[in-house]
Amino acid sequence: MNEKSSFHTVRGYELIAQESKVLTPAMEDYLEMIYRNSLDTGLLRSNTLSGLLNVHPSSVTKMLQKLSRLGYVDYQKYGIIFLTEKGIAAGKFLYRRHQIVEEFLNFIGNCRTPLVETELIEHHIRPEMLGNIEMFIRFLDENPDCIERFQMFRKNALQPQSE
Ligand code: ZN
Repeated sequence: MNEKSSFHTVRGYELIAQESKVLTPAMEDYLEMIYRNSLDTGLLRSNTLSGLLNVHPSSVTKMLQKLSRLGYVDYQKYGIIFLTEKGIAAGKFLYRRHQIVEEFLNFIGNCRTPLVETELIEHHIRPEMLGNIEMFIRFLDENPDCIERFQMFRKNALQPQSE
C-alpha cells in the first residue's frame, strides 16, 4: 500500500465522527493525547498523562473513568491506560484531524501559536470540511511549486507599502 491508498475518504471521517458524537472536546483531547503517546508502547501511565495535559491527577482519574464507561479506554489498576479497539480508532482519527488542521494553518501563515489555533478549530470542524482540507494538503504535497508561489505572494502582500 502506498501513501495515497491510505488517504481517508470523507466517508471514513463521517463514520468515525458519528461514533465520536458522544465525546466532548475535553474527552477528544484526552483520547488524542493517549493515542499519540501510547503509539510506541501501546500503553500510557495516568501520571504521565496528567503531566502531559497539565491536569490534576484526580481530574485525570475522573475522566479516565468516564472514557472507560464509554468503552474507549481500559483503565483499571496501577494507573495504566490502554486504548480499546474503539479508543484506538477514535484516537487515530483525532490525531490525524489535529495534524491536518495544523498543517493547513502552518501553510496559510506563520502561525505564532499553532497549537492554540489548532485547538480552536479541531473540535468543531465537520468531516466534509476536514476532507476538503486534507485534499488540499495532498494537492500541495504533490505541487511544491504552489507552496513557493504562495509564500512569495504572501511575503509581497505583507510588505509595508512604500508611500
Ligand atoms: Zn489536538
